Amino acid sequence: MQRYPPAPRLGRPAVAGLGVTFVILCLGLLLCLLPSSRCSADEMLSTYMVGTSRIDVQVDDGPMQLSNQQLMQWVQWAADSVKTYYGRYPVPQVRLRVIPSSGEGVRGGTTFGEADGGFIRIHVGGNTNMADLADDWMLTHEMVHLGFPSMPRNHHWIEEGIATYVEPIARVRAGRLDAYEMWFELVRDLHQGLPQAGDQGLDNTHTWARTYWGGALFCFLADVEIHKQTNNRKGLDDALRGILDAGGDIRHDWQLADTLRIGDQAVGATILVPLYDKMKNRPYNVDLPGIWKDLGVERTGDTVRFLDSAPLAKTRDAITYGNAPPANPTNSK
Ligand SMILES: [Zn+2]
Repeated sequence: MQRYPPAPRLGRPAVAGLGVTFVILCLGLLLCLLPSSRCSADEMLSTYMVGTSRIDVQVDDGPMQLSNQQLMQWVQWAADSVKTYYGRYPVPQVRLRVIPSSGEGVRGGTTFGEADGGFIRIHVGGNTNMADLADDWMLTHEMVHLGFPSMPRNHHWIEEGIATYVEPIARVRAGRLDAYEMWFELVRDLHQGLPQAGDQGLDNTHTWARTYWGGALFCFLADVEIHKQTNNRKGLDDALRGILDAGGDIRHDWQLADTLRIGDQAVGATILVPLYDKMKNRPYNVDLPGIWKDLGVERTGDTVRFLDSAPLAKTRDAITYGNAPPANPTNSK
């Protein structure tokens, strides 16, 4: 892994001779001629290499108290988290455009497929500090979108569900998020994905809750079931890596049933396709409190505690850490 030094921020010098101005303009022009960049003399362009993948970061002109280096550190955290989960960065090239906005914190992003990679647009408040970036989940969420094929509109829930479910696990595995916090938030939020009155299944119920948390619920149920049926040798991460290895990234338009079939083949068990059949056009309900109990995750106030005597305690560990549990797991009592 190699990190290229960031390019200088190009500003308009308050006092500059013609020679200096000319050099700065030429440098700006050179940067604008680099592949996949479109910038003016007031924008910053840097590149981060993650494995063999290239992330070109452009910061638009605007108020921003964070330095170039601090923003690139944030990009590195997110890219490394996604790489840790998938085993590699999902696409060979990404254009990442950071748009300064008012206020504080990361304020929403969007990801698009392009011919040779992806394009991520993300808003960062001008008053954002490093602590905000260290806590940020949005850039990791956007980068997870790169690792799954583009779906027809009625299957948007699977794209958002994967990004919602995988993002915190990826950050735990990269050491960017505490496992207790990850499970606390899952227990606190996942019930929002359960069907409500009038629900017609994930393919036909396009509410915010069913799109993001309903999709995450599908991923969670699939993850638990894959672990159960493979005696914790495989997980949803293996299915998603199999889909990615078959060419299923954001650059390509695939059908959901075909994609899930490839995921099932990757884990050697038929789980994703039948789960989709159960959840796609009817209000499939599940006993979430019962599953938390089986996994040994007990909510206590603003955190959770892990019960290693629970029947699926090993599945909980495997979901959290994959096939490589940390030497000193934070979830042991
Ligand atoms: Zn998303």
